Amino acid sequence: SLSDRLSATFKSLRGKGRLSEADIETTVSQIRRALLDADVAVPAVRAFTSAVRERASSAEVSQALNPAQQIVKIVNEQLIEILGGESREVRFAKHPPTVIMLAGLQGAGKTTLAGKLGKWLKEEGHTPLLVASDLQRPNAVTQLQVVGGQAGVPVWAPEPGNGVGNPIEVARTGVAHAREKYYDVVVVDTAGRLGVDAELMQQAADIRDAVNPDEILFVVDAMIGQDAVTTAQAFADGVGFTGVVLSKLDGDARGGAALSIRTVTGKPVLFASTGEKLTDFERFHPDRMASRILDMGDVLTLIEQAEKAFDEDQAQEMANKIAGDGDFTLQDFLGYMQQMKQLGSMKKMLGMLPGMGQMREQLENFDEREVVRVEAMVQSMTPGERQNPKIINGSRRSRIAKGSGSTVSEINGLLDRFEQAKTMMRSMARGGMKGGMPGAMG
Ligand code: GDP
Ligand code: MG
Repeated sequence: SLSDRLSATFKSLRGKGRLSEADIETTVSQIRRALLDADVAVPAVRAFTSAVRERASSAEVSQALNPAQQIVKIVNEQLIEILGGESREVRFAKHPPTVIMLAGLQGAGKTTLAGKLGKWLKEEGHTPLLVASDLQRPNAVTQLQVVGGQAGVPVWAPEPGNGVGNPIEVARTGVAHAREKYYDVVVVDTAGRLGVDAELMQQAADIRDAVNPDEILFVVDAMIGQDAVTTAQAFADGVGFTGVVLSKLDGDARGGAALSIRTVTGKPVLFASTGEKLTDFERFHPDRMASRILDMGDVLTLIEQAEKAFDEDQAQEMANKIAGDGDFTLQDFLGYMQQMKQLGSMKKMLGMLPGMGQMREQLENFDEREVVRVEAMVQSMTPGERQNPKIINGSRRSRIAKGSGSTVSEINGLLDRFEQAKTMMRSMARGGMKGGMPGAMG
């Protein structure tokens, strides 16, 4: 699957200190092939890979992340981007009723979606009405009545006097009925054909002109892969639409339609249908979809937290300080301990993060209570002592011990570890900061 292919790509980057141009090219071409094999449309693949290449080769470096993590982060953000960035809300009319028209091929999932939308709208506090403007298939009206019944939403069906045999008339009278009876949202179900068809397009366009919809949702079966894109283009030309609903996303293991549709149509995906039941329905959130495709939710969370814990500016400042005259103070040491503590609270997740071996070991031995003790000891020191621990003689040690509720030997221990950390940090500073955080615990 796409997830597996991307994971394999990320895995091959593990342990790399820095990405060369060649590494980036290899990575980008692996991603390109994975997307193409997942049936993602060519323009979308092109947009995606060129963004990844550009960002990976730019000086976009974070002290908190190794190259593999950087690529995961970039790919995740580009996935969100290509899926539309923000999720888009339904646009409700200023003057109800809001008219939502559904369009799409036969079997796309329109009628099922009408029921799902009806249920969702009701839960959102609306009073929806479903309108049966599919008179093509013999039991299409009954099918809508069944899902309407399940959703507890009334259905406007053709009856003598309101447009029997004429889907345009049914739509028009349905909206008029809604206005009269104060239904505030009307969902118009329409007919589809097995393929794109001029007569069908004309009928949909006529319904559109009769009811002037606030939203036209193009419903597309995500499982049809590349055909989803062709169909979308045909509907964009023939009827036009304001948003997309991806149906049968439960069966789309490859993610191709989801990743293509926004780039190809320029229209946002509003909803996802993920099964036959009325509850198999959700608002479409690009970020959630992206992490579903990446299938690395935990790693992404960890990346986010690692970046937070290891603030870049702070790291840079520290690196400069150490690389300079080495005036690494006890105050700085305390700062590191506090960062370790933050990371310690995510110890469990560290097992999943690639390239964190050395640090994982340090955290295994890390005792969070130690931070509290060090804090107390450092706080009992004068600013001069924190700056230059060399002046901390015997009598100062017993004063600090008393002040922090510890023993002189604990103070000695702290000062020893501080010296060790300082040496270690100097050597790390010479080799760059990329190895992660220094072994504050000695
Ligand atoms: P329409 O012709 O566009 O109105 O499509 P229907 O709503 O009648 O759906 C066609 C078939 O697809 C039906 O058997 C539905 O139960 C099924 N279906 C609809 N939406 C989904 C979905 O999200 N997931 C799955 N697995 N099946 C769906
Ligand atoms: Mg139908």
